[in-house]
Amino acid sequence: MAQSKIYKNFIGGEWVESRSGQTFENLNPADTSDVVGYFQDSSEADVNDAVEAAKAAWEKWRLTPAPKRGEILYRAGEILSERKEEYARDMTREMGKILKETRGDVQEAIDTAFYMAGEGRRMFGFTTPSELKDKFNMAMRVPLGVVGMITPWNFPMAIPSWKIFPALVCGNTCVIKPAEDTPLSTINLVRALVDAGLPKGVVNIVTGHGPTAGAPLVNHKDVRAISFTGSSEVGRIVGQAAAASFKPCSLEMGGKNAIIVLDDANVDLAVDGALWGAFGTAGQRCTAASRMIVQRGVHDEFVAKFVERTKKMKIGDGLDETVTMGPQVNKQQIDTTVKYVEIGKNEGAKIATGGSRPNGDRLSRGWFHEPTIFTNAHPKMRIAQEEIFGPVTTVIQTTSVEEAAEIANSTMYGLSSAIYTRDVNKAFRAIRDIYAGITYVNAPTIGAEVHLPFGGVKATGNGHREGSQAIDFFTTWKAVYIDYSDKLQRAQIDNE
Ligand code: NAD
Repeated sequence: MAQSKIYKNFIGGEWVESRSGQTFENLNPADTSDVVGYFQDSSEADVNDAVEAAKAAWEKWRLTPAPKRGEILYRAGEILSERKEEYARDMTREMGKILKETRGDVQEAIDTAFYMAGEGRRMFGFTTPSELKDKFNMAMRVPLGVVGMITPWNFPMAIPSWKIFPALVCGNTCVIKPAEDTPLSTINLVRALVDAGLPKGVVNIVTGHGPTAGAPLVNHKDVRAISFTGSSEVGRIVGQAAAASFKPCSLEMGGKNAIIVLDDANVDLAVDGALWGAFGTAGQRCTAASRMIVQRGVHDEFVAKFVERTKKMKIGDGLDETVTMGPQVNKQQIDTTVKYVEIGKNEGAKIATGGSRPNGDRLSRGWFHEPTIFTNAHPKMRIAQEEIFGPVTTVIQTTSVEEAAEIANSTMYGLSSAIYTRDVNKAFRAIRDIYAGITYVNAPTIGAEVHLPFGGVKATGNGHREGSQAIDFFTTWKAVYIDYSDKLQRAQIDNE
């Protein structure tokens, strides 16, 4: 067992203790007797120090040419590639998902580094004709200043990278408050940036809890924008707090994503997708497929094959390469999963497989839950409406692609969606009619790539996007008018 260490905040380029000296422990969810480390339990005073450092660093960083900023990101991407295995192992130990997935999480940060490094030589603005003679008009992107970031635990390196890399290439400095369950992966990401040559104060980390370290960041007068990913419940609190000072605020929140399987689908392929979509990351993905909307003609075959494959999954410590599903992240999450299984049973849905916490020595020290499939479900049941964030999915029967899209749209969320069909007309109808940020055809609800927009609608997001469109959030527009006529020309008046 690796030894537990004390980790510090990163402020102004130095690793420092919180002002109070308090720490909190981070446990391995596969074995809660394993303490991953002790992290600083920060408060408003630490946030103030971090914002001060970010503000001071901004004066130089905003004047660093964007291609140079991009080069630092590129080097960070190379360093992350070298350390991929080490950082993936740290991540599995701190949040539980299997090694294949944590390697993918680090890879997402590498991809984002390389993509955003290129943005340093693009970041296009535009020119446009003037209505007046001898006048030149252009619009350019400019940085915001200090940006605050608040992140969840399920993609502990990928999501911070989606925020930090675009923010930096655009010329902002930042303070990040990572999730309580996964501060180490954010620290590892920032270590790569520091070793790549990032100047002091450009990125600052303050670890700690939401109300005591997150809220002061949202409320800080010198923080010009907030980028948040997490639950819709906390997103509402963060959004309302940011609105009080008119701070731009990007909210990426929950999901209740559906896979539609039509009668003409390749059922085996759909089952592959259902397994990965529902039980990848033990269901703890904002894009997890927690509803299967299956047309009547293939319903029974789909359920039989899905159940059979689910029963073969191996639950355990994600560091064991033979394991296919790890634990839930913490006690609160396992309690939520157990609670929803009870709710589903009481609502009259039938458990086709799973439904309990597994027994056995190997699993007794972690937050494990069996992969669980509900059938005989109605779209209005709570298990088909509310985000569970555990390895629980619900199969709902449907009669047509039109009805399937309606069911898919019937929750408060709108993040990801998928349809399995060999009929191109039906696929395009679903793409048109499903109101969500992402639709996959013949692929599950998970699998986003950085060079496309990422995010959702309704209770999933407030209109911003990460991925390729992140620079829209991390810059603001400046319109520039250059009059070279040497006389006063009045817009709308002297344009005859
Ligand atoms: P959470 O909302 O509990 O916490 C998210 C972050 O907010 C944490 O860092 C937490 O400390 C902080 N926080 C809590 N209270 C706060 C407050 N009052 N003020 C400021 N910050 C506060 O979410 P979680 O459990 O870490 O993550 C799971 C949720 O995240 C799920 O709902 C999932 O769908 C969502 N998620 C969304 C996306 C997306 O891109 N749409 C991606 C991943 C996860």
